[in-house]
Amino acid sequence: MIFRQLFDQESSTYTYLIASGDGREAVIIDPVKAKMPLYMRLFSELKLKLVIALDTHLHADHITATGELHNQTDCQIIMGSETKAEFVSRRVKEGEVISIDGITLKAIYTPGHTDDSYCFLWENKVFTGDTLLIRGTGRTDFQNGDARAQYDSLFNKLLKLPQQTLVYPAHDYHGQTCSTIDEEKQFNLRLQVNSVEQYVTIMDNLNLPKPRLIDIAVPANLKCGLVEK
Ligand code: FE
Repeated sequence: MIFRQLFDQESSTYTYLIASGDGREAVIIDPVKAKMPLYMRLFSELKLKLVIALDTHLHADHITATGELHNQTDCQIIMGSETKAEFVSRRVKEGEVISIDGITLKAIYTPGHTDDSYCFLWENKVFTGDTLLIRGTGRTDFQNGDARAQYDSLFNKLLKLPQQTLVYPAHDYHGQTCSTIDEEKQFNLRLQVNSVEQYVTIMDNLNLPKPRLIDIAVPANLKCGLVEK
C-alpha cells in the first residue's frame, strides 16, 4: 500500500497520494499547483498511473493542481456536485463511492466551511478537508460558509464515524499531521459546545484576516487552476 502525506509549506496544505502499490493506479487529494514537479516525480519513481485528482472543496488559499494534473496525466478531476468549478469530470454526491484499482473512497457531504465541502472516507482514515482540522475547524466566513451547516456536518456526520478513525485534514499550521475522531472529540476546543448556537457564536467571533491569496486562488480554482500564472 502506498499512502503519502505531502506538504506545501506556502499554504500549509496537506496533499494525499494513495495507491495499492507500485505500478498501480493512484488518486491524489487536494494537490497544490506549485508542487506539480514533486507529484510528477513521485508518479514516475513509483510507476503510478494517476487516475483521479480530487479536491475536497474550492480552495481559497492556494491554486489547485487538478487541472494541470488532468492535462499531464489525463486523470479525472473529481469534486462534489455543489461545486461551481469548470472542467470537473465527475461530481460526486453524499454516499457516493469512488473506486480505483484496490482503493475505495466514500464521499461524505460536509458543508459549512464552503457549500461544496466533502470529506472522503478510506478504510480507517477520513480526509476531512477544512471541515475538521486537528484541534480546530475550517472558517465559515466566506464562499457560502455556514457555521450551522458545519455544526451539523461535524456532530451528525464526522463525529459519528468509528472513534478510532484517523483524521487527515487539508491543512495544519502547527506541525500536527494526524489525529483521530476520539482525540478531536476530547481535545478540540471548538467541539466542546453544548448547542449549535454556541458553535455559531464561536465561529462568528473568530475575526480572522482575509486569506492572502483569496482573490487569485478562487477565480483560478473555478477553472481547476488552469490560468496563466
Ligand atoms: Fe479551505
